[in-house]
Amino acid sequence: MLLKLPIKMSAGLGLSLIDRAVKESFASRCTNEDLERIRQYFLSQGVFRCLYCGSENPSRWDHLHAVSRGGDTVPGNLVPACQRCDDSKQDKDVAEWLKGKAKHRPPLEALSRIEAEIREYQSYFAHEPREFESKLSDDDQAKYKRFRQEIEALRMHLKNEGLLK
Ligand SMILES: [Zn+2]
Repeated sequence: MLLKLPIKMSAGLGLSLIDRAVKESFASRCTNEDLERIRQYFLSQGVFRCLYCGSENPSRWDHLHAVSRGGDTVPGNLVPACQRCDDSKQDKDVAEWLKGKAKHRPPLEALSRIEAEIREYQSYFAHEPREFESKLSDDDQAKYKRFRQEIEALRMHLKNEGLLK
């Protein structure tokens, strides 16, 4: 097989990665012991597998509720996923992903099974997903707003220079 061209990093993608990194600085992050508790939970459900397609070789921890939307790196939000599903899902929630047009999404018929497994998992760890803005204090909201203004200014600047489509 021929080697493909390396992925091109667009300025727009770069800006969204900065946004995600800043959002991650407001997110909770669990310990390795917590991660082991998650692993044990899924092991106790049977084979340790991709929550979405059932593949028996999950290689990633997917955020059910994406970091860019306020998701935390905690039990109740991390699920084992295979690389293919994780790459396909990106920052969408499960229903959005399965109803969408992403390549390699599981069939829509799998939605109710996946959602039931997610409900059980989240209630086991008493986890309730929160939207990004709603978990910030007033101070942090102001901080994030100032950051967004800078990002928008940078976006306009790149656009005016023809560096961003
Ligand atoms: Zn999968």
